[in-house]
Amino acid sequence: MTWIDDPEFAADRPFGPQTLPYGVVDGGEGPMVAVRVGDHALPLRSVESALGDELAPVLWAGSLDPLLAAGQAVWTALRDRLQDLVTVSVAPRGATLLPLAGLRPVLAFTVGDYVDFYSSRHHAENVGRMMRPGADPLLPNWTHLPVGYHGRSGTVVVSGTDIVRPDGQRRGPDGPQFGPTERLDVEAEVGFVCGGPPARRVPVGAAAEHIFGVALVNDWSARDIQGWEYQPLGPFLGKSFATSIAAWITPLDAFASARIPVVEPDHPRLDYLVEDKPWGLDLSLAIEWNGTVVSRPRFADMSYSCAQQLAHMTVNGATVRPGDLFASGTVSGPEKEQRGCFLELSWAGREPVTLAGGVQRTFLEDGDTVSITATAPGPDGSLVGLAEVAGTVVPVQEP
Ligand code: CA
Repeated sequence: MTWIDDPEFAADRPFGPQTLPYGVVDGGEGPMVAVRVGDHALPLRSVESALGDELAPVLWAGSLDPLLAAGQAVWTALRDRLQDLVTVSVAPRGATLLPLAGLRPVLAFTVGDYVDFYSSRHHAENVGRMMRPGADPLLPNWTHLPVGYHGRSGTVVVSGTDIVRPDGQRRGPDGPQFGPTERLDVEAEVGFVCGGPPARRVPVGAAAEHIFGVALVNDWSARDIQGWEYQPLGPFLGKSFATSIAAWITPLDAFASARIPVVEPDHPRLDYLVEDKPWGLDLSLAIEWNGTVVSRPRFADMSYSCAQQLAHMTVNGATVRPGDLFASGTVSGPEKEQRGCFLELSWAGREPVTLAGGVQRTFLEDGDTVSITATAPGPDGSLVGLAEVAGTVVPVQEP
């Protein structure tokens, strides 16, 4: 029997001892690095005596930055010690449990470079059919490389942050128009938080040395702005206004039982993208729109793995550094109820989505809240959770 008295801290719950995600919380005395146990946060500084003095710079920091930089050996050692510490029957000296309800989540790390991929074939084909009707839904490069673009790291915000409806330029019947987006959308994605020593040309087999953990991401998208601006250089202002990331980052080590083969490519790939046993993650996502689950995408349907994405991102000599973030791209499956954005769910606004009480929606209205969660199989039949990423849309604000 563990000293942690919380019914959510159980093997069959997402945030039991098998998960132990890291985050940063503020209870009024400044940001503190913590590990999540059920519906409580355990500030790491409160168990310093049990974890060891040599970890002090990591435990007393106001962000995960020192932990990300510390590298894989420290990540594994700290997780091992924490798993021992949270499963013993007597509370370690000084240990403090804080209910999550009384804490403000803080963006857990300084986001360096942010790259967003486009690795769901189902999403890419659906968008291709809508945007380029009559043409091949996939562009020729898609089957050969994980297509991506550089996003805006400065507007990555922690879950719970309000999303201000962006203004922008869009196509009108008589030329471009300016105003608040009328097609505000979400993209349910899985984000990978990088750490370890800066590196170039990371081989597909070395991804685990450079990926600290996994966190859900919502790539908010203004489809009308995007549709007018995106050719030929890709997304820009239609996405750079906000990207939400979960407050808690689940260590990659927690997903050992969730590794599954990646979808077989239908074309041979170049050597730098080929791995002996490429692995994806068996994550089941759920998207809630004002409390109604509108989609359940499966990450198993993605066509490129995080290792292939990282290898591609660095193959030209570009450096990956601690704090870099890359996201999978919208997670969509073959079925309608597995689509990871409202553009696809409403088929460009032509097929409204019905929410609780019969309310119908195509794109987001002011006041709407979207929350994305996910779970994966853990060891011995347990459940590993990814913390929710949520946000509420608020009206355009005058400058
Ligand atoms: Ca995206």
